[in-house]
Amino acid sequence: MKLDELGNLRRTNLSTQITPKLAGKEVVVMGRVGDARDLGGIKFFILSDIAGAVQITAPKAKTDKKLLAKIDELTKESSVAVKGKVVAAKQAPRGVEVLPLEIRVLNLASTPLPLDPRGRVKANLDTRLDARGLDLRRSESLAIFKIRHQALQAIREHLLSQDFIEVQTPKIVATATESGAALFPVSYFDREAFLSQSPQLYKEVLTGAFERVFEVGPIFRAEEHDTPRHLNEATSIDIEVAYATADDVMDILEELVYRAFNEVKKKCAEELKVLGHKLEVPKKPFPRLTYDEALKRLERAGLKVPWGEDLPTPAEKKLGELVGGAYFVVDWPTAIKPFYILPKKDNPKLCAAFDLMFKGLELASGGTRVHQKELLVKQLKQKGLNPESFESHLKNMMAVPPHAGWGLGLDRLTMVLTGVDNVRECVLFPRDRKRLTP
Ligand code: ATP
Ligand code: MG
Repeated sequence: MKLDELGNLRRTNLSTQITPKLAGKEVVVMGRVGDARDLGGIKFFILSDIAGAVQITAPKAKTDKKLLAKIDELTKESSVAVKGKVVAAKQAPRGVEVLPLEIRVLNLASTPLPLDPRGRVKANLDTRLDARGLDLRRSESLAIFKIRHQALQAIREHLLSQDFIEVQTPKIVATATESGAALFPVSYFDREAFLSQSPQLYKEVLTGAFERVFEVGPIFRAEEHDTPRHLNEATSIDIEVAYATADDVMDILEELVYRAFNEVKKKCAEELKVLGHKLEVPKKPFPRLTYDEALKRLERAGLKVPWGEDLPTPAEKKLGELVGGAYFVVDWPTAIKPFYILPKKDNPKLCAAFDLMFKGLELASGGTRVHQKELLVKQLKQKGLNPESFESHLKNMMAVPPHAGWGLGLDRLTMVLTGVDNVRECVLFPRDRKRLTP
Protein backbone atom coordinates (compact mmCIF):
# COMPACT_ATOMS: atom_id res chain seq x y z
CA MET A 1 0.00 0.00 0.00
CA LYS A 2 1.25 3.46 -0.93
CA LEU A 3 1.95 5.91 1.86
CA ASP A 4 0.36 8.84 0.11
CA GLU A 5 -2.94 7.54 -1.27
CA LEU A 6 -4.70 10.87 -0.85
CA GLY A 7 -1.99 12.82 -2.70
CA ASN A 8 -3.28 16.17 -3.83
CA LEU A 9 -6.77 14.84 -4.48
CA ARG A 10 -9.42 16.77 -2.51
CA ARG A 11 -13.14 16.31 -2.05
CA THR A 12 -15.18 18.68 -4.20
CA ASN A 13 -18.60 17.71 -2.86
CA LEU A 14 -20.32 15.89 -0.04
CA SER A 15 -22.45 12.95 -1.17
CA THR A 16 -25.77 14.73 -0.79
CA GLN A 17 -24.54 17.71 -2.78
CA ILE A 18 -24.37 15.43 -5.82
CA THR A 19 -27.73 16.05 -7.52
CA PRO A 20 -29.01 15.61 -11.09
CA LYS A 21 -28.34 19.33 -11.55
CA LEU A 22 -24.60 18.56 -11.60
CA ALA A 23 -24.99 16.12 -14.54
CA GLY A 24 -21.93 16.19 -16.78
CA LYS A 25 -19.67 17.71 -14.10
CA GLU A 26 -16.54 16.04 -12.78
CA VAL A 27 -16.52 15.64 -8.99
CA VAL A 28 -14.44 14.06 -6.25
CA VAL A 29 -16.29 12.35 -3.41
CA MET A 30 -14.73 10.66 -0.40
CA GLY A 31 -16.22 8.31 2.12
CA ARG A 32 -16.68 4.69 3.08
CA VAL A 33 -17.82 1.78 1.01
CA GLY A 34 -21.30 0.47 1.65
CA ASP A 35 -23.35 -2.13 -0.19
CA ALA A 36 -21.87 -3.27 -3.50
CA ARG A 37 -23.51 -5.23 -6.31
CA ASP A 38 -22.62 -6.76 -9.62
CA LEU A 39 -25.56 -6.88 -12.03
CA GLY A 40 -23.72 -8.46 -14.94
CA GLY A 41 -23.50 -5.37 -17.12
CA ILE A 42 -22.78 -2.95 -14.28
CA LYS A 43 -21.03 -2.87 -10.97
CA PHE A 44 -22.01 -0.38 -8.36
CA PHE A 45 -21.42 0.50 -4.73
CA ILE A 46 -22.75 3.00 -2.25
CA LEU A 47 -20.34 5.60 -0.91
CA SER A 48 -21.37 7.10 2.46
CA ASP A 49 -20.00 10.18 4.14
CA ILE A 50 -21.07 12.38 7.03
CA ALA A 51 -23.84 13.95 4.92
CA GLY A 52 -25.44 10.80 3.49
CA ALA A 53 -24.71 8.58 0.47
CA VAL A 54 -24.31 8.52 -3.28
CA GLN A 55 -24.21 5.62 -5.72
CA ILE A 56 -21.02 4.95 -7.68
CA THR A 57 -21.91 3.09 -10.89
CA ALA A 58 -19.48 1.49 -13.32
CA PRO A 59 -20.97 0.16 -16.60
CA LYS A 60 -18.59 -2.66 -17.55
CA ALA A 61 -18.52 -1.78 -21.26
CA LYS A 62 -17.51 1.81 -20.61
CA THR A 63 -15.18 1.38 -17.63
CA ASP A 64 -11.46 0.71 -17.64
CA LYS A 65 -10.64 -2.94 -16.71
CA LYS A 66 -8.20 -1.93 -13.96
CA LEU A 67 -10.84 0.25 -12.39
CA LEU A 68 -13.36 -2.61 -12.47
CA ALA A 69 -10.81 -4.86 -10.79
CA LYS A 70 -10.27 -2.23 -8.11
CA ILE A 71 -13.99 -2.11 -7.39
CA ASP A 72 -13.92 -5.89 -6.88
CA GLU A 73 -11.23 -5.47 -4.25
CA LEU A 74 -13.19 -2.96 -2.19
CA THR A 75 -14.33 -4.27 1.15
CA LYS A 76 -17.20 -2.80 3.15
CA GLU A 77 -16.31 0.20 5.32
CA SER A 78 -13.03 0.86 3.48
CA SER A 79 -12.18 4.54 3.03
CA VAL A 80 -12.08 5.59 -0.62
CA ALA A 81 -11.85 8.61 -2.88
CA VAL A 82 -13.72 8.56 -6.19
CA LYS A 83 -13.20 11.00 -9.01
CA GLY A 84 -15.98 10.69 -11.54
CA LYS A 85 -18.67 12.16 -13.74
CA VAL A 86 -22.14 12.95 -12.45
CA VAL A 87 -24.98 11.32 -14.39
CA ALA A 88 -28.71 11.75 -13.88
CA ALA A 89 -30.17 8.26 -13.45
CA LYS A 90 -33.81 7.59 -12.58
CA GLN A 91 -33.11 4.13 -11.15
CA ALA A 92 -30.42 5.36 -8.72
CA PRO A 93 -31.13 6.67 -5.21
CA ARG A 94 -31.95 10.42 -5.41
CA GLY A 95 -31.93 10.11 -9.24
CA VAL A 96 -28.20 10.54 -9.57
CA GLU A 97 -25.00 8.51 -9.75
CA VAL A 98 -21.29 8.99 -10.31
CA LEU A 99 -19.42 7.13 -13.07
CA PRO A 100 -15.90 6.58 -11.72
CA LEU A 101 -12.83 7.76 -13.64
CA GLU A 102 -10.40 7.11 -10.80
CA ILE A 103 -10.69 5.31 -7.46
CA ARG A 104 -8.16 5.65 -4.67
CA VAL A 105 -8.29 3.16 -1.85
CA LEU A 106 -7.36 5.27 1.17
CA ASN A 107 -7.63 2.54 3.76
CA LEU A 108 -8.86 -0.96 3.10
CA ALA A 109 -11.03 -2.61 5.75
CA SER A 110 -10.08 -6.18 6.59
CA THR A 111 -12.70 -8.90 6.54
CA PRO A 112 -14.74 -10.07 8.25
CA LEU A 113 -15.72 -6.89 10.09
CA PRO A 114 -16.18 -7.37 13.85
CA LEU A 115 -19.66 -5.91 13.44
CA ASP A 116 -21.97 -4.64 10.75
CA PRO A 117 -22.34 -0.87 10.99
CA ARG A 118 -25.47 -1.05 8.87
CA GLY A 119 -26.96 -2.92 11.79
CA ARG A 120 -28.49 -5.77 9.79
CA VAL A 121 -26.68 -8.22 11.99
CA LYS A 122 -27.47 -7.17 15.56
CA ALA A 123 -24.55 -7.21 17.98
CA ASN A 124 -24.69 -6.95 21.77
CA LEU A 125 -23.49 -3.80 23.51
CA ASP A 126 -20.17 -5.30 24.65
CA THR A 127 -19.24 -6.40 21.12
CA ARG A 128 -20.22 -2.98 19.83
CA LEU A 129 -18.19 -1.15 22.45
CA ASP A 130 -15.16 -3.35 21.71
CA ALA A 131 -15.36 -2.21 18.08
CA ARG A 132 -16.56 1.28 18.97
CA GLY A 133 -14.76 2.96 16.03
CA LEU A 134 -16.97 1.00 13.64
CA ASP A 135 -19.98 1.09 15.93
CA LEU A 136 -19.95 4.90 15.89
CA ARG A 137 -20.48 4.69 12.10
CA ARG A 138 -23.98 3.29 12.67
CA SER A 139 -26.68 5.83 11.95
CA GLU A 140 -28.11 5.33 15.46
CA SER A 141 -24.76 6.14 17.09
CA LEU A 142 -24.34 9.19 14.92
CA ALA A 143 -27.86 10.31 15.87
CA ILE A 144 -27.11 9.98 19.60
CA PHE A 145 -23.94 12.07 19.37
CA LYS A 146 -25.56 14.72 17.20
CA ILE A 147 -28.29 15.05 19.81
CA ARG A 148 -25.72 15.22 22.61
CA HIS A 149 -23.85 17.90 20.66
CA GLN A 150 -27.02 19.89 20.02
CA ALA A 151 -28.09 19.73 23.67
CA LEU A 152 -24.70 20.92 24.87
CA GLN A 153 -24.72 23.68 22.29
CA ALA A 154 -28.13 24.88 23.53
CA ILE A 155 -26.97 24.75 27.15
CA ARG A 156 -23.78 26.66 26.44
CA GLU A 157 -25.65 29.32 24.46
CA HIS A 158 -28.15 29.72 27.29
CA LEU A 159 -25.50 30.10 29.99
CA LEU A 160 -23.45 32.51 27.89
CA SER A 161 -26.55 34.62 27.28
CA GLN A 162 -26.92 34.80 31.09
CA ASP A 163 -23.40 36.23 31.56
CA PHE A 164 -21.77 33.05 32.79
CA ILE A 165 -18.01 32.62 32.32
CA GLU A 166 -16.81 29.21 31.19
CA VAL A 167 -13.98 27.86 33.35
CA GLN A 168 -11.73 24.81 33.62
CA THR A 169 -10.76 23.58 37.08
CA PRO A 170 -8.04 21.02 37.97
CA LYS A 171 -8.77 17.34 37.51
CA ILE A 172 -5.81 16.24 39.62
CA VAL A 173 -6.67 17.09 43.21
CA ALA A 174 -5.46 16.53 46.75
CA THR A 175 -8.78 15.86 48.54
CA ALA A 176 -12.23 14.44 48.07
CA THR A 177 -15.25 16.69 47.68
CA GLU A 178 -17.69 14.21 49.16
CA SER A 179 -16.22 11.22 50.96
CA GLY A 180 -12.95 9.41 50.56
CA ALA A 181 -14.53 6.20 49.33
CA ALA A 182 -15.07 7.00 45.70
CA LEU A 183 -11.70 8.40 44.67
CA PHE A 184 -9.25 7.15 42.05
CA PRO A 185 -5.72 7.59 43.37
CA VAL A 186 -2.96 8.71 40.99
CA SER A 187 0.70 8.96 41.74
CA TYR A 188 1.80 12.58 41.71
CA PHE A 189 5.59 12.63 41.84
CA ASP A 190 6.37 11.54 45.40
CA ARG A 191 2.84 12.11 46.67
CA GLU A 192 -0.57 10.57 46.28
CA ALA A 193 -3.21 12.60 44.48
CA PHE A 194 -6.69 11.81 43.14
CA LEU A 195 -8.82 12.28 40.06
CA SER A 196 -11.46 14.92 40.69
CA GLN A 197 -14.97 13.71 41.59
CA SER A 198 -16.51 17.11 40.93
CA PRO A 199 -15.45 20.73 40.37
CA GLN A 200 -17.53 21.60 43.46
CA LEU A 201 -14.99 23.28 45.73
CA TYR A 202 -13.22 25.20 42.95
CA LYS A 203 -16.40 26.55 41.39
CA GLU A 204 -17.53 27.77 44.81
CA VAL A 205 -14.28 29.67 45.29
CA LEU A 206 -14.65 31.14 41.80
CA THR A 207 -17.99 32.79 42.66
CA GLY A 208 -15.95 35.21 44.78
CA ALA A 209 -14.04 36.35 41.69
CA PHE A 210 -16.25 35.71 38.63
CA GLU A 211 -19.74 35.56 40.24
CA ARG A 212 -21.32 33.27 37.61
CA VAL A 213 -19.28 30.34 36.33
CA PHE A 214 -19.90 27.13 34.45
CA GLU A 215 -17.76 24.18 33.50
CA VAL A 216 -18.28 21.22 31.20
CA GLY A 217 -15.78 18.57 32.17
CA PRO A 218 -15.04 15.04 33.33
CA ILE A 219 -15.83 13.74 36.80
CA PHE A 220 -14.30 10.53 38.10
CA ARG A 221 -16.09 8.23 40.52
CA ALA A 222 -14.42 5.06 41.77
CA GLU A 223 -17.75 3.43 42.62
CA GLU A 224 -18.15 -0.24 41.84
CA HIS A 225 -21.55 0.30 40.26
CA ASP A 226 -22.85 -1.93 37.55
CA THR A 227 -26.01 -0.13 36.52
CA PRO A 228 -27.32 1.28 33.22
CA ARG A 229 -26.86 4.84 34.58
CA HIS A 230 -23.44 4.87 36.25
CA LEU A 231 -20.02 5.34 34.69
CA ASN A 232 -16.64 5.73 36.35
CA GLU A 233 -15.87 8.68 34.13
CA ALA A 234 -18.79 10.96 33.30
CA THR A 235 -19.24 14.45 31.89
CA SER A 236 -20.74 17.01 34.22
CA ILE A 237 -22.14 20.42 33.43
CA ASP A 238 -21.61 22.49 36.56
CA ILE A 239 -22.70 25.98 37.44
CA GLU A 240 -22.17 28.14 40.52
CA VAL A 241 -23.75 31.55 41.07
CA ALA A 242 -22.93 34.28 43.59
CA TYR A 243 -25.71 36.06 45.53
CA ALA A 244 -28.16 33.25 44.72
CA THR A 245 -30.10 30.50 46.47
CA ALA A 246 -31.26 27.01 45.50
CA ASP A 247 -34.51 28.43 44.12
CA ASP A 248 -32.64 30.79 41.80
CA VAL A 249 -30.42 28.08 40.36
CA MET A 250 -33.36 25.68 40.02
CA ASP A 251 -34.98 28.32 37.81
CA ILE A 252 -31.83 28.42 35.68
CA LEU A 253 -31.73 24.62 35.49
CA GLU A 254 -35.40 24.37 34.55
CA GLU A 255 -35.03 26.91 31.75
CA LEU A 256 -31.86 25.30 30.48
CA VAL A 257 -33.23 21.74 30.41
CA TYR A 258 -36.42 23.04 28.77
CA ARG A 259 -34.33 24.78 26.15
CA ALA A 260 -32.19 21.70 25.49
CA PHE A 261 -35.33 19.58 24.93
CA ASN A 262 -36.83 22.17 22.59
CA GLU A 263 -33.68 22.70 20.55
CA VAL A 264 -33.16 18.96 20.13
CA LYS A 265 -36.79 18.52 19.12
CA LYS A 266 -36.47 21.32 16.58
CA LYS A 267 -32.99 20.69 15.18
CA CYS A 268 -32.66 16.91 15.48
CA ALA A 269 -35.96 15.70 14.01
CA GLU A 270 -34.07 13.40 11.59
CA GLU A 271 -31.93 11.93 14.36
CA LEU A 272 -34.93 11.33 16.63
CA LYS A 273 -36.60 9.53 13.72
CA VAL A 274 -33.54 7.30 13.24
CA LEU A 275 -33.77 6.41 16.95
CA GLY A 276 -37.54 5.96 16.84
CA HIS A 277 -37.86 8.29 19.82
CA LYS A 278 -40.82 10.58 20.27
CA LEU A 279 -39.38 13.37 22.40
CA GLU A 280 -41.83 15.04 24.74
CA VAL A 281 -40.76 18.43 26.06
CA PRO A 282 -41.49 18.63 29.81
CA LYS A 283 -43.95 21.35 30.76
CA LYS A 284 -42.81 24.36 32.78
CA PRO A 285 -42.77 24.87 35.69
CA PHE A 286 -41.38 21.46 36.67
CA PRO A 287 -43.16 20.23 39.83
CA ARG A 288 -41.15 20.83 43.02
CA LEU A 289 -41.97 18.37 45.77
CA THR A 290 -40.26 18.19 49.11
CA TYR A 291 -38.49 15.09 50.35
CA ASP A 292 -41.27 14.73 52.97
CA GLU A 293 -43.97 14.91 50.30
CA ALA A 294 -42.07 12.37 48.21
CA LEU A 295 -42.02 9.92 51.16
CA LYS A 296 -45.76 10.46 51.72
CA ARG A 297 -46.63 9.85 48.09
CA LEU A 298 -44.47 6.74 48.05
CA GLU A 299 -46.08 5.43 51.24
CA ARG A 300 -49.55 5.96 49.77
CA ALA A 301 -48.39 3.89 46.80
CA GLY A 302 -47.30 1.13 49.19
CA LEU A 303 -43.56 1.88 49.30
CA LYS A 304 -42.24 2.92 52.69
CA VAL A 305 -38.87 4.67 52.88
CA PRO A 306 -37.67 5.46 56.45
CA TRP A 307 -37.23 9.20 57.01
CA GLY A 308 -33.62 10.25 56.66
CA GLU A 309 -32.65 7.69 54.03
CA ASP A 310 -31.77 8.34 50.42
CA LEU A 311 -34.43 7.16 47.97
CA PRO A 312 -33.42 3.68 46.80
CA THR A 313 -33.69 2.95 43.07
CA PRO A 314 -37.15 1.26 43.25
CA ALA A 315 -38.49 4.28 45.17
CA GLU A 316 -37.02 6.66 42.59
CA LYS A 317 -38.66 4.62 39.84
CA LYS A 318 -42.01 4.59 41.62
CA LEU A 319 -41.89 8.33 42.22
CA GLY A 320 -41.06 8.78 38.55
CA GLU A 321 -44.25 6.90 37.65
CA LEU A 322 -46.30 8.92 40.14
CA VAL A 323 -45.03 12.36 39.14
CA GLY A 324 -43.88 11.76 35.54
CA GLY A 325 -41.65 13.89 33.30
CA ALA A 326 -39.19 16.30 34.91
CA TYR A 327 -39.52 17.27 38.59
CA PHE A 328 -37.46 18.52 41.50
CA VAL A 329 -37.18 16.88 44.91
CA VAL A 330 -36.22 19.60 47.41
CA ASP A 331 -35.47 20.04 51.14
CA TRP A 332 -33.49 16.89 51.81
CA PRO A 333 -32.34 15.63 55.23
CA THR A 334 -29.05 17.39 56.02
CA ALA A 335 -27.46 14.11 57.11
CA ILE A 336 -27.55 12.57 53.62
CA LYS A 337 -26.34 15.58 51.64
CA PRO A 338 -22.73 16.82 51.41
CA PHE A 339 -21.08 19.16 53.95
CA TYR A 340 -21.19 22.14 51.62
CA ILE A 341 -25.02 22.30 51.52
CA LEU A 342 -26.66 24.93 53.73
CA PRO A 343 -29.01 23.64 56.47
CA LYS A 344 -32.42 25.34 56.68
CA LYS A 345 -32.61 28.14 59.25
CA ASP A 346 -36.00 27.11 60.64
CA ASN A 347 -35.15 23.38 60.72
CA PRO A 348 -31.46 22.42 60.48
CA LYS A 349 -32.41 18.74 60.06
CA LEU A 350 -33.32 19.75 56.51
CA CYS A 351 -31.08 21.46 53.99
CA ALA A 352 -31.44 23.56 50.87
CA ALA A 353 -30.54 20.72 48.49
CA PHE A 354 -32.43 19.59 45.41
CA ASP A 355 -32.29 16.84 42.82
CA LEU A 356 -33.67 17.18 39.32
CA MET A 357 -35.30 13.93 38.26
CA PHE A 358 -36.63 12.76 34.93
CA LYS A 359 -38.96 9.76 35.09
CA GLY A 360 -37.08 8.34 38.07
CA LEU A 361 -33.58 9.07 36.76
CA GLU A 362 -31.48 11.62 38.64
CA LEU A 363 -30.18 14.19 36.18
CA ALA A 364 -28.78 16.85 38.51
CA SER A 365 -28.08 17.72 42.14
CA GLY A 366 -27.60 21.15 43.62
CA GLY A 367 -28.36 23.52 46.43
CA THR A 368 -27.57 26.62 48.40
CA ARG A 369 -24.01 26.32 49.67
CA VAL A 370 -22.36 27.14 52.96
CA HIS A 371 -20.21 30.25 52.50
CA GLN A 372 -19.01 30.84 56.09
CA LYS A 373 -15.82 29.14 57.14
CA GLU A 374 -17.01 28.38 60.71
CA LEU A 375 -20.08 26.55 59.50
CA LEU A 376 -18.04 24.67 56.89
CA VAL A 377 -15.67 23.45 59.61
CA LYS A 378 -18.60 22.42 61.80
CA GLN A 379 -20.27 20.51 58.96
CA LEU A 380 -17.04 18.81 57.91
CA LYS A 381 -16.67 17.52 61.47
CA GLN A 382 -20.31 16.40 61.58
CA LYS A 383 -19.72 14.35 58.42
CA GLY A 384 -16.65 12.75 59.98
CA LEU A 385 -14.26 14.62 57.67
CA ASN A 386 -11.05 16.22 58.82
CA PRO A 387 -11.07 20.04 58.38
CA GLU A 388 -7.26 19.94 58.20
CA SER A 389 -7.42 18.11 54.86
CA PHE A 390 -9.53 20.99 53.60
CA GLU A 391 -7.24 23.71 54.90
CA SER A 392 -6.25 25.19 51.55
CA HIS A 393 -9.86 25.16 50.42
CA LEU A 394 -11.06 26.85 53.58
CA LYS A 395 -8.44 29.56 53.12
CA ASN A 396 -9.65 30.14 49.60
CA MET A 397 -13.23 30.45 50.77
CA MET A 398 -12.45 33.64 52.68
CA ALA A 399 -15.13 36.28 52.12
CA VAL A 400 -16.80 34.29 49.34
CA PRO A 401 -20.36 35.62 48.82
CA PRO A 402 -23.48 33.52 49.46
CA HIS A 403 -23.90 31.26 46.45
CA ALA A 404 -25.73 28.29 44.96
CA GLY A 405 -25.24 25.91 42.08
CA TRP A 406 -25.72 22.46 40.61
CA GLY A 407 -24.12 19.65 38.61
CA LEU A 408 -25.99 18.14 35.68
CA GLY A 409 -24.88 14.86 34.10
CA LEU A 410 -24.56 15.35 30.35
CA ASP A 411 -24.48 11.61 29.70
CA ARG A 412 -27.72 11.07 31.59
CA LEU A 413 -29.35 14.07 29.93
CA THR A 414 -28.42 12.50 26.58
CA MET A 415 -30.11 9.25 27.70
CA VAL A 416 -33.44 10.98 28.20
CA LEU A 417 -33.13 13.08 25.05
CA THR A 418 -32.39 10.04 22.89
CA GLY A 419 -34.60 7.55 24.73
CA VAL A 420 -31.81 4.96 25.09
CA ASP A 421 -31.76 2.92 28.28
CA ASN A 422 -28.02 2.52 28.87
CA VAL A 423 -25.77 5.49 29.56
CA ARG A 424 -22.88 3.70 27.81
CA GLU A 425 -24.65 4.34 24.48
CA CYS A 426 -24.31 8.09 25.13
CA VAL A 427 -20.56 8.13 25.75
CA LEU A 428 -17.97 7.70 23.00
CA PHE A 429 -15.63 5.40 24.90
CA PRO A 430 -17.27 4.53 28.23
CA ARG A 431 -15.30 3.71 31.34
CA ASP A 432 -16.97 1.33 33.75
CA ARG A 433 -15.88 -1.23 36.33
CA LYS A 434 -14.90 -3.71 33.63
CA ARG A 435 -14.07 -1.48 30.70
CA LEU A 436 -10.89 0.53 30.26
CA THR A 437 -10.45 0.05 26.50
CA PRO A 438 -10.86 1.15 23.78
P1 ATP B 1 -26.46 8.83 41.83
O1 ATP B 1 -27.20 9.01 43.14
O2 ATP B 1 -27.37 8.62 40.66
O3 ATP B 1 -25.36 7.83 41.93
P2 ATP B 1 -25.00 11.13 42.65
O4 ATP B 1 -26.01 11.78 43.52
O5 ATP B 1 -23.89 10.36 43.26
O6 ATP B 1 -25.73 10.24 41.54
P3 ATP B 1 -23.97 13.75 42.10
O7 ATP B 1 -22.73 13.71 42.90
O8 ATP B 1 -25.17 14.42 42.65
O9 ATP B 1 -24.35 12.25 41.69
O10 ATP B 1 -23.59 14.32 40.65
C1 ATP B 1 -24.41 15.21 39.90
C2 ATP B 1 -24.88 14.58 38.60
O11 ATP B 1 -23.78 14.02 37.87
C3 ATP B 1 -25.80 13.39 38.81
O12 ATP B 1 -27.13 13.82 39.02
C4 ATP B 1 -25.64 12.64 37.51
O13 ATP B 1 -26.41 13.21 36.46
C5 ATP B 1 -24.18 12.84 37.19
N1 ATP B 1 -23.41 11.70 37.69
C6 ATP B 1 -22.88 11.56 38.91
N2 ATP B 1 -22.25 10.38 39.05
C7 ATP B 1 -22.37 9.76 37.87
C8 ATP B 1 -21.94 8.50 37.37
N3 ATP B 1 -21.24 7.65 38.15
N4 ATP B 1 -22.25 8.17 36.10
C9 ATP B 1 -22.96 9.02 35.32
N5 ATP B 1 -23.39 10.22 35.73
C10 ATP B 1 -23.12 10.59 36.99
MG1 MG C 1 -26.91 13.59 43.42
